[in-house]
Amino acid sequence: MARIGALEAGGTKMVMAVGDEEGNILERDSIPTTAPEECVPKMVAWFADHKVDTLGIGAFGPTCVDPANEKYGSILETPKTAWKYYPFRNAFVDGLHIPVGYDTDVNVACLGEATYGAAKGLGYVVYVTIGTGIGAGVMVEGKLMHGMMHPEAGHILIRRDPEDKAPSSCPYHDDCFEGLAAGPAIEKHWGKPAKELLDDPRVWDLESFYLAEGVATYIVCYSPKKIILGGGVMHQEQLFPLVRSKVAHLLNGYIVTPEMQDLDSYIVPAGCDGDQGILGCIELGKRALEEA
Ligand code: ADP
Ligand code: ZN
Repeated sequence: MARIGALEAGGTKMVMAVGDEEGNILERDSIPTTAPEECVPKMVAWFADHKVDTLGIGAFGPTCVDPANEKYGSILETPKTAWKYYPFRNAFVDGLHIPVGYDTDVNVACLGEATYGAAKGLGYVVYVTIGTGIGAGVMVEGKLMHGMMHPEAGHILIRRDPEDKAPSSCPYHDDCFEGLAAGPAIEKHWGKPAKELLDDPRVWDLESFYLAEGVATYIVCYSPKKIILGGGVMHQEQLFPLVRSKVAHLLNGYIVTPEMQDLDSYIVPAGCDGDQGILGCIELGKRALEEA
């Protein structure tokens, strides 16, 4: 059986793993995300030592995911200046001489859920992470959606609650989903981290209103067969029933499908025990090997 390398490249840490074709994680390690010149050689050496046959990388964005583009696998414009335009995928291709699959961190999380988790086998899936930022990975016909770049669906513009005068936590947009509903937005609005606001129902009512606006928009635009909500903020499971009922209210009976009749099974928590990202990287590496 092939040994599949998986690299989940985040803004604060890099998680490396070896898995098999059935999604078993055999070994795992992590290092802090420092400048690429410092941390990339360590990761290349780790995968070389672990004798992987192929690799799947899920990288923080924005990044180029178009194999036909000369910047394929490079990080694009980013506030992390050391990483700006860094040819991330090429470093592993040149260092390891194996197939390397490459996509965004949220797209691989979507792939992990669609392969092993809450949306297993469905082929049309939106995975949303609500954490330090908001990101959405989109799968259509079993493939992760790309295009001009890749969806940046955490930045859809949504309606602000008229009473909500708090500053947006997105430096680009006053009224985007991430700016109003990511973890830092909750903290900016209420003056404390989300975890310390459990006793105040107003916090979760407003948060679920924004989440429902985002989810309703994804439903009408992407027509997913399941929507998975993950990330730190969704540890607050009391959000799920609030979001479902507000989505039903916002869509107002317009979409009539079996899924919309059963929102408890349609808008769901992640199903991979927090491993959707690394499992998605394993699946990406497996697909890269099959296509090589
Ligand atoms: P990241 O997005 O950086 O990968 P997380 O998904 O853990 O990391 O998101 C971090 C954000 O989620 C922080 O803004 C934090 O306030 C919020 N958060 C983390 N844990 C919880 C929790 N149990 N309840 C509510 N919010 C949480
Ligand atoms: Zn924004």
